[in-house]
Amino acid sequence: MGFRPFVYRVARAYGLAGWVLNAEAGVEIYLEGPPDALAAFVTALQREPPPAARVAEVIATPVPPEGLTDFTIRESQRQDRPSVRVSPDLPVCARCLAELFDPADRRHGYPYINCTDCGPRYSIILGLPYDRPRTTMKDWPLCPDCAREYHDPADRRFHAQPVACPRCGPTYMLLSGGMVVARGTAAVAVAARHLSAGRILAIKGIGGYHLACDARQPAAVWALRERKFRKEKPFALMVRDLETARTLVALEPMAERLLTSPARPIVLAPARVFLDGVAPENGDLGVMLPYAPIHYLLFAAGAPAVLVMTSANRSEEPIAYEDADALARLTGIADDFLIGERPIARRVDDSVVRVGLDGPVILRRSRGYAPGAVARLPTARPVLALGADLKNAVTLVVEGQAFVSQHIGDLDQAAAFRAFQETVADLCRMYDVALERLLVVHDRHPEYRSTQYAAELPAEERRAVQHHRAHIASVLAERAALTTPVVGFAGDGTGYGDDGTIWGGEVFTGSLAEGLVRRAYLWPAVLPGGDAAARFPVQAAAGFLAQLPVVPDLTGPPFAFPERFWLALALVQKGVRTFPTTSLGRLFDTVAALVGFTRPITFEGQAAIWLEHLARRSPPVAAYPFPLVGNRLDFRPLLEAVIVDRRRGRDPAEIAWAFHAAVAEAVLTVARWLAEEVGTRVLVLSGGVFQNLLLLSLIRDRLGDRPDLEVWTNREVPPNDGGISLGQAALAVVDTGSASVSPIGGDA
Ligand code: ZN
Ligand code: ZN
Ligand code: FE
Repeated sequence: MGFRPFVYRVARAYGLAGWVLNAEAGVEIYLEGPPDALAAFVTALQREPPPAARVAEVIATPVPPEGLTDFTIRESQRQDRPSVRVSPDLPVCARCLAELFDPADRRHGYPYINCTDCGPRYSIILGLPYDRPRTTMKDWPLCPDCAREYHDPADRRFHAQPVACPRCGPTYMLLSGGMVVARGTAAVAVAARHLSAGRILAIKGIGGYHLACDARQPAAVWALRERKFRKEKPFALMVRDLETARTLVALEPMAERLLTSPARPIVLAPARVFLDGVAPENGDLGVMLPYAPIHYLLFAAGAPAVLVMTSANRSEEPIAYEDADALARLTGIADDFLIGERPIARRVDDSVVRVGLDGPVILRRSRGYAPGAVARLPTARPVLALGADLKNAVTLVVEGQAFVSQHIGDLDQAAAFRAFQETVADLCRMYDVALERLLVVHDRHPEYRSTQYAAELPAEERRAVQHHRAHIASVLAERAALTTPVVGFAGDGTGYGDDGTIWGGEVFTGSLAEGLVRRAYLWPAVLPGGDAAARFPVQAAAGFLAQLPVVPDLTGPPFAFPERFWLALALVQKGVRTFPTTSLGRLFDTVAALVGFTRPITFEGQAAIWLEHLARRSPPVAAYPFPLVGNRLDFRPLLEAVIVDRRRGRDPAEIAWAFHAAVAEAVLTVARWLAEEVGTRVLVLSGGVFQNLLLLSLIRDRLGDRPDLEVWTNREVPPNDGGISLGQAALAVVDTGSASVSPIGGDA
């Protein structure tokens, strides 16, 4: 990211001779000059790198001087396999923004302005090393002015691969009713007017299309929901500037840093205003700042200051990124299309982050982060880990560096499964990995599409890793904790267990190197209908409530269970199509159903999120009993207490709080027992349940100021299934032979 020009300028400043090039193992610099100048150079390299660059390591080796007299930038080399990192996409920088709005500048109002410090990377790269002929800008030859900047080492656009201007580069146009009605600046002006008028626009961005409308016009927002088949899942917002963001959400300093960080993610924060239709029954709003020049231009042209900016797709399909596909799929959803001519090489959704207990938590890892390396693993072998079928992302390990792909989606969608296959092929091509040499790692679930895909790949070797061990391993891999003994609590919705049952409340001890042994778990319940019950909290409730010694009478108020509950209960009592489960996620669903969430969910985790937001409205209250009996956490006294309180008319928010507190105490009870037994202080928490910030803070509160346990959660990859592939890769490469990894078709 503008590193070679930076090196050039620093070397010149210190009067050093030599050269710099992008080698496949990283940036290579050869320098000749007096020792103090050489030392000053190294200091500058580490202290003042360009805005978005991160110097991972400087390795200096003395060599005999060759008597060079000048400093030059050499052509990129391509030798074996490129382990050099592909940069994520960057937001437009302050200097380019100044030019964008300077009427005297030749790029005034130009939506594809960029320089070596900013602009697209991953989303335009066709191959490595990163040079213009291997980007989606290859079809736009530079005009003389742009060529001069591109070739001038003193210019800040020196070797800026996507450099362009209104004379030589691509532009934007506005399509309305299938006709191009405006181009360039005029297209932006018309688009801004249409947004103000309440129309829904498809807008091409960096990693795909967005669907946008004025967030303060409920008619537009609800029309978008209807056309997109998106009933309740919150919409992300893009706001004009930080001041506007502050009026919408409560932003702590770290949240502001995330908002303005180079990844420019969607930041979830507590809402300060109510926007009808944007995030129904949710106390948070997801907000992001503009990052592409086109976004700034739209706001400057008078677009509403708060826009819904949601991935352009119907329902849960992958985001549209190719123009023809976008036009085909979004006709009937978008009124108009603001289309940019620069092709997008691959789809990269917006990332979603939040401030957690100890720093940022990534909930969806995509634009701005992907495909950065997140961990180093002790292997020279190429490894491809395929992740889980929900919230899929894959991990490719090349020479020990684990690259995690962008968010792909739910593989039961045909389009998402195609995107998954494309991403695997794309990453392997980019890093020159031959499929035949791969160690392919997949989930143990025999019916996952990713598992079936693994069997079809012409890999050298395949291994299956159990889902919840992968969750715990993802945290250990991030911290390069290969041998640290830990207690790992996986709190999750659904995952295929060693015994073929549905796991999701599992406690392990061990380490990456020794393997993770299951030591404790949730009191077993059943799920009528199996994994499909995840869509219906009342269906899970039937399977959990049936475990009580006396099945309570749940007819009549305050319980208003729909027919589905009674049908499910009948299935459970007859033992028909019911599957054993230890899923903590389904216990959350059960409690949500008991306190009023009796409708089907319309997005993953909805009932648990609803329950968390309900609980946040309560003052702190005492926890329900949730005892450890032998090695099982017995939820039965807990559910009985919930039912008693519901009948007594206790505030549902208090019930929800007492439930969260009970889970927090149960986690610590089992963790303390096992931590002492294996002699560790480290408690690893991962899995979708631990996205719950209230639960985490209740655990933290109970640990107090002098905690006896050190809590490790995910930092680089999501705690949900988006982090599974990293954990799979980590467990598969540490040579164990333990129960945690086994050949495909191995033990059950
Ligand atoms: Zn710039
Ligand atoms: Zn030009
Ligand atoms: Fe999971």
